[in-house]
Amino acid sequence: MPGGERFHFNDPRGNDLAIWSDVARDGVRPGAQRVGPLLLYYRLMRSVYLGNLSKATVALVALLLGQALFDAPRPARAAERQTPATCTYEAQTWNVALQRSVNAQRVVHPYSPLALEEQDPVTGCTVCREDQEILEIPPLAPFAVCYRFAPQVRAVLTALIRQGQPIFRVDGYRVIRSRGPLDGDGNRTVLSNHAYGAALDFNPEQNGLYDQCPSFGPDCRLVRGGAWRPGAPGSLEQHGMIVKAMREAGFRWGGEREGNLKDFMHFSVTGD
Ligand SMILES: [Zn+2]
Repeated sequence: MPGGERFHFNDPRGNDLAIWSDVARDGVRPGAQRVGPLLLYYRLMRSVYLGNLSKATVALVALLLGQALFDAPRPARAAERQTPATCTYEAQTWNVALQRSVNAQRVVHPYSPLALEEQDPVTGCTVCREDQEILEIPPLAPFAVCYRFAPQVRAVLTALIRQGQPIFRVDGYRVIRSRGPLDGDGNRTVLSNHAYGAALDFNPEQNGLYDQCPSFGPDCRLVRGGAWRPGAPGSLEQHGMIVKAMREAGFRWGGEREGNLKDFMHFSVTGD
């Protein structure tokens, strides 16, 4: 179908003829609307400046201004974060027999490539200090988390502390093997979610880690931190404000995990 404006004229023999221009009455070519506001803006700019500036200059200015006007208000994209040059971390291993961490080791290597275990496939967070963000939320001592979680963690903790919730201490990033099978010396062999800055411990002195604990009771054995006493200041509770707010921010609470471990201080995205 022809578009635009129809013109009538007579040929030399007196026949009435008609043609359709490809320019509509408002000066915009039919079909141009689908290009959107950028082209309209360009045409406006061109009609204003064409007398003084070359077409190429106007097109460039219109393009840049148009992008600024129509594309600018986007949130920061992940791609805009610079890939670090180096990956640095201090690794430790939890020894079950000694009940303490051993084998402290400092690692430094170029960021690319990372070894398989150095990046968490679930969150994309890494063991590298360069991928951690230090959060300072008084009166808590500063702690580090993976940059991907830093905004949520800052927001939820700031709100909870402003409400007067009893949060005395938070630990985040800590590169430690504290999961998985034991080697011959009683060392754990799998990195914790803390190693990626993807887990947080709240008030360890009031929210211990227990094993032999399919459901909480006197037979559970405290292996790290202080005793969990629901109702006491700083001990977390399933229906309390702190666990609820963290759950809404996308974190699962270690007090609700399945199996023999109950880690009442612990929050992570995966629940491990
Ligand atoms: Zn933890």
